[in-house]
Amino acid sequence: MQNDGQTRVLVAGGAGFIGSHLIDALIAEGARVTCLDSFLTGRKANIAHLAREPHFDLVEADIIDPLPELPRFDRIFNLACAASPPHYQADPQHTMMTCVVGSHQLLELARASGARFLQASTSEVYGDPEVHPQEESYWGHVNPTGPRACYDEGKRSAETLAFDYERRYDLDIRVARIFNTYGPRMRADDGRVVSNVICQALTDQPITVYGDGEQTRSFCYVSDLVDGLMRLMRLDASPGGPVNLGNPREMTVAELVSVVTRMTGTRSPIVRRPLPVDDPQRRRPDITRAGCLLDWSPRIVLEAGLEATIGWFADEVARREPAPAFAGLAGPVARAHRPAEPALRSLARG
Ligand code: UDP
Repeated sequence: MQNDGQTRVLVAGGAGFIGSHLIDALIAEGARVTCLDSFLTGRKANIAHLAREPHFDLVEADIIDPLPELPRFDRIFNLACAASPPHYQADPQHTMMTCVVGSHQLLELARASGARFLQASTSEVYGDPEVHPQEESYWGHVNPTGPRACYDEGKRSAETLAFDYERRYDLDIRVARIFNTYGPRMRADDGRVVSNVICQALTDQPITVYGDGEQTRSFCYVSDLVDGLMRLMRLDASPGGPVNLGNPREMTVAELVSVVTRMTGTRSPIVRRPLPVDDPQRRRPDITRAGCLLDWSPRIVLEAGLEATIGWFADEVARREPAPAFAGLAGPVARAHRPAEPALRSLARG
């Protein structure tokens, strides 16, 4: 805490989808927040409403570069990394360096500040899991040389670094393993199933289902996730290990498509695309630990979360006429090798 009693918080990746919602919650709680973002996948539009907020600062920087001069912080959230498969695979070396070099620099900053540190990790540390549902004690089944490895292994390394800082320097560490999250402020070109299917449905484009659509995911609404992150950071005693945060309601991709189709009333046909390499077949968090430690469980049912998300994307689509060709038509790996810049730039406007 600072002398004025206000908690000083750094959110790296604060202009991203989850980061920007987290900042809103922190500001509402009375914190003084600095957002650090490279705007590689984060967007100015996500934080534009904070322009006149006296307790908010923005620093434009990439955490793999030497960090600019920053004030002392009480708390640091590290959410900085591209997180959707096409975006993190577009520049895999940068993704890996963000997780390793970037996290290392922020851990050093936390050490110098005496700050509590929360690392955003991912369900991807479990890879294509052979244990179901996934609990934190499971070490995972990651292909270390495949196209997802830059993210999966990068986040595993970030976890390793964080726990080494805890052991070696007694730094106060929290690691959240975040499962699939959705909600307003996702990018239309994110390439994820929720954003793709909603945008395709809203613009009557073919809905892309990769593989047979029988693979499962468990989708958590962003406000529930942010509540979990806030509780994890607030916890007095160090949790002493990673904590899963996600919604345990598991469904197939085909089921998700049918819910969105019904809710939007779309006439879009469904088209099958090849299953991406190393695409996990099943995923569902065991959230027993989060329940015990944080008294947390998700509150927002899928249909309510989707309604808010569809409404938000409908406004986005209306703002961006003519409708962009949403990612998904060529398959995620093919997209990763297309120059991503123009699409990212055009969608970053406004
Ligand atoms: N997926 C799909 N159609 C799409 C985008 C994704 O069928 O347009 C599938 C993808 O192959 C995966 C699941 O949906 O099995 C979730 O993909 P997403 O990229 O949202 O998240 P992740 O694979 O990182 O969990």
